[in-house]
Amino acid sequence: MDLHIATVSEGGKGAGGWGAVLRWGTAVREIQGNELATSGSRELQMLAVATGLRALTRSAPVRLHSDRPGFDLAPGMSSRVFWAGRSHEDPDGARATALAGDALQKAIKQLEALCIHELTTRSCWQCRPQAAGLPARVKVTSGGLVYHLDEACPALHDGWRKLERRGGIRSSLDSVPMVDALARGFGACEVCGSVR
Ligand SMILES: [Zn+2]
Ligand SMILES: [Zn+2]
Repeated sequence: MDLHIATVSEGGKGAGGWGAVLRWGTAVREIQGNELATSGSRELQMLAVATGLRALTRSAPVRLHSDRPGFDLAPGMSSRVFWAGRSHEDPDGARATALAGDALQKAIKQLEALCIHELTTRSCWQCRPQAAGLPARVKVTSGGLVYHLDEACPALHDGWRKLERRGGIRSSLDSVPMVDALARGFGACEVCGSVR
């Protein structure tokens, strides 16, 4: 299994985009994503790898190719992923770069759109997204599908109450590295899982 990733950003905590191409023989899957305000290329790289891993249906080892290889992988990733170097010359690498560029353009379009104050979103001090970066750690339960940023999350406590009403026992809330949670397939809680 090969995973090619590429990232591109405006710099200065501006918008960023990433692209990922997963290849298993002749089967190819393309993924992309963007952040309106990114803390940097490591955040984008982690999102690209974690989302790529989530898209996998097999547990085969993953050869990771990047336009900027060598960054530290999260502990949850390094057991499955190993570095295979740069991907400049590879068509899949070029495709990942194109996907990243396209994702960045989509983010820029959103930032240039007018906000409710009739300013561009980028220039409005109230609407401008702030680069928060990935939180270092998030909270997960063993039976859950999403990660939470807030221990007091209403959705989390609601779920526990429902479980207990059915006679279940609430599982413990564990604090894990964000990138591990992504690599294990947890999505963001719709109530508390977004930093913005
Ligand atoms: Zn505004
Ligand atoms: Zn939550």
